[in-house]
Amino acid sequence: MKHSRWIPRVLPLLIVCLSRPGAVNFAAGQFGPTVDDASSQADASRVIALRAGRLFDGKSDRLLEDQMVVIRGDRIAEVGPAARVSIPAGAEVIDLRRATVLPGLIDTHTHLFLTGESAGRYDEQLLKESWQYRTIEAVVNARKDLEAGFTTMRDLETEGAMYSDVDVRNAINRGLIPGPRLQVVTRAISTTGGYPLEGYSPEVPVPSGAQIVDSPEEARKAVREQIKYGADLIKIYSTHRFRFTPEGKLVSIPTLTLDEIRAIVDEAHREEVKVACHAYGGEGLRNCIEAGVDSIEHGIDLDDASIQRMVEKGIYFVPTLYAYENEPEEDLRATGGKTTRARIHENSFRRALASGVKIAFGTDAGPFPHGTQAKEFEYMVRFGMTPARALRSATSLAAELMSWQDRIGSLEKGKFADLVAVAGDPLADITELERVKFVMKGGRIVRNDMK
Ligand SMILES: [Zn+2]
Repeated sequence: MKHSRWIPRVLPLLIVCLSRPGAVNFAAGQFGPTVDDASSQADASRVIALRAGRLFDGKSDRLLEDQMVVIRGDRIAEVGPAARVSIPAGAEVIDLRRATVLPGLIDTHTHLFLTGESAGRYDEQLLKESWQYRTIEAVVNARKDLEAGFTTMRDLETEGAMYSDVDVRNAINRGLIPGPRLQVVTRAISTTGGYPLEGYSPEVPVPSGAQIVDSPEEARKAVREQIKYGADLIKIYSTHRFRFTPEGKLVSIPTLTLDEIRAIVDEAHREEVKVACHAYGGEGLRNCIEAGVDSIEHGIDLDDASIQRMVEKGIYFVPTLYAYENEPEEDLRATGGKTTRARIHENSFRRALASGVKIAFGTDAGPFPHGTQAKEFEYMVRFGMTPARALRSATSLAAELMSWQDRIGSLEKGKFADLVAVAGDPLADITELERVKFVMKGGRIVRNDMK
């Protein structure tokens, strides 16, 4: 993600957001994308019996005590009380009696192709690093995220690295490299002047962090192209620049018109692909809700009427709180110390929480280091969410946003054996998620520090 403050001269920006999923056989859509996962072909005969001291199933409000999870190949074969579920003959036993076992975590807003945005880093990545080099960085980032417990992610655009996320997704699915299950966005879509790179002379052609469209026809064509080359979902930027009024009120400048967004949503949904909308607030936010996008990303300045419309239309809110806590200084300067986007965001989040809108866990990892995004849980809980609801937002609810609720997001028979474990009780201390000790993806152990 990249966000530009609108002040008289163009300033280096803060954050950019992107994402896109890609499918090997067909695109990931509303009706259940396919997963071409090498782990499903491997070791189908391997049986694991995992004994959990405590277990969070991804759907309930409480922990279950002394549970057994039986795994055959890449799937969960049985879950139940250890007193009732017997260990199959020949099973490998994993002892997590001192731990809490949870479904693999899902981050619905990441940027594998970003490695920090401080001090011109974004421009440097686009201007000085080849797509090949950036793909190597993305491979390293994917591993960090997986080892931190994120077994599935929506990666929300490559920020100028074109369709390279499709290759990362495919390499993970084919077992070439370790990484989360991915849905990828590819290029994302914005308008002329609606996305970096910015601030260069008109005489100098520079790359863009998103695909630029300036009419409904161009918008529809961009959706078709991105799906053709492997996008699992579409990401649009409906606001970009922003400024503060002297009173400290945030003003978000829209990019795409309502007609352009309608064309994008219509075309994507015709092709059974979802649309994620980056929006702060104001007209750009309202246009996305009106056009019927599937998720609002960031939504740092949600008005009550928009929240109500999101509830009515079933639109998910992906808040990415932690990303904004990282960068208060510029906002404090701009408002004379009155406020920051982080505090405006907190207010939006608290009202959204009370409204019952569906909140999916998403972090914007990339501008800040990959593998550290579990910090998001801490802010969700600090701003009023119960720990159980925060955990559901990163498991069963996030799976629904991805239309993958049939395969991930809860510990149930038939689902992929994607599991993590922490030493303590995450309902008592949500920061336990920042210290994941065990990760399994598709029945394969990624890490086990509990031995
Ligand atoms: Zn982002």
